[in-house]
Amino acid sequence: MADDWDERFGWAWDLISEDPARRDSAHLRLDELRMARAGAATRQQHEEASRRLLPDGLWIGSRPGLVRLPRAVRYRLLYLDWEVRFPHEWAWHARSWSTKTSLLRTFHQHVDELPDWIRTVLTDLILLVVARPHRLGDERYARLARVLADDPLRDRLRELGEHADEGVRLRAGYLTWVIGRRILPEPKPSQWRDYLQTLGLVEEPAQRSPAILSQVDQGRVPTLVRCPRCDGPAAAVCPVPGQDRPVWRVTCADCPYTASRRPEFKQGNRWDGSVVHDPVFRLPLWLQQPYAGSRLWAYGTGHLDAIEQHLRARVRLADGGAYLPAYQVDLPDWMMPLDRRDELLAGIAALRATVPAGPATR
Ligand SMILES: [Zn+2]
Repeated sequence: MADDWDERFGWAWDLISEDPARRDSAHLRLDELRMARAGAATRQQHEEASRRLLPDGLWIGSRPGLVRLPRAVRYRLLYLDWEVRFPHEWAWHARSWSTKTSLLRTFHQHVDELPDWIRTVLTDLILLVVARPHRLGDERYARLARVLADDPLRDRLRELGEHADEGVRLRAGYLTWVIGRRILPEPKPSQWRDYLQTLGLVEEPAQRSPAILSQVDQGRVPTLVRCPRCDGPAAAVCPVPGQDRPVWRVTCADCPYTASRRPEFKQGNRWDGSVVHDPVFRLPLWLQQPYAGSRLWAYGTGHLDAIEQHLRARVRLADGGAYLPAYQVDLPDWMMPLDRRDELLAGIAALRATVPAGPATR
């Protein structure tokens, strides 16, 4: 029992496969496990399903010892690796910011016990994090970098400091700065902004985008879907959010169609460019358009606003250059490259033009 990690999670390596089909089938497996847990008839079945789920199963059957449980550590590192390499897929299928930060905290606290192979994996993760837009909890990697700092890490940060992307150069510079100044307090997001200011740079806009995805998730703002009866716009909301087992309702704006549902769990979508559905009623989202082999979509106007704000937000450099800052709109990875910004904004404007008028859709 204590060492059934491979049996429980051996399949999970496909989550970080370069092959999208393998990742897709691993996602389906997670969805099925979640469905099995939702349908569990007994407490034992529920626990059994949880043991096989990510991130739930990462904590089961062991205390977070590091050296004594190499397999457990391997799969905990896999969970972190997945978030770093495929952040959007991670966020959709098994997001847990608290698991991410507590795993990183544990490695930080036990740094003196870490064998070389774990230090190597963590160092690689730190460097991958430098090379991508900042995400929630990434300051924990900066903290880790300070205690793991050695010559190879410094050398590789110096290389990233020559990177073609301004954002990568800045993040590598920041990390070199915090590693080299022991006197500085532990890294946190405000310290990154202070660092930018010392370079004469500012992050804008000053206002963070609202936590729109959690509002959508709780049904506090409507998700726009297509009515299954008349094909018109319908709004899915949770009229009394925040309950233990909330009931959702979908109401069409154009015909009398209405339906209720108590979602046991929220089903995922496939990210291969096919039609995107809302997770509760499984109706097609209203705001979606095929786009360059993929698909542009949003749950509702608030989400669309947040995506647009994210794409427009930049650090303004003295010479007019720009890079993506730390906004927490969970954009698909293919929308990240800077050179797509203008075409994406045009796509979003086209999507916005399809929003039907009326209070129910705002
Ligand atoms: Zn209708």
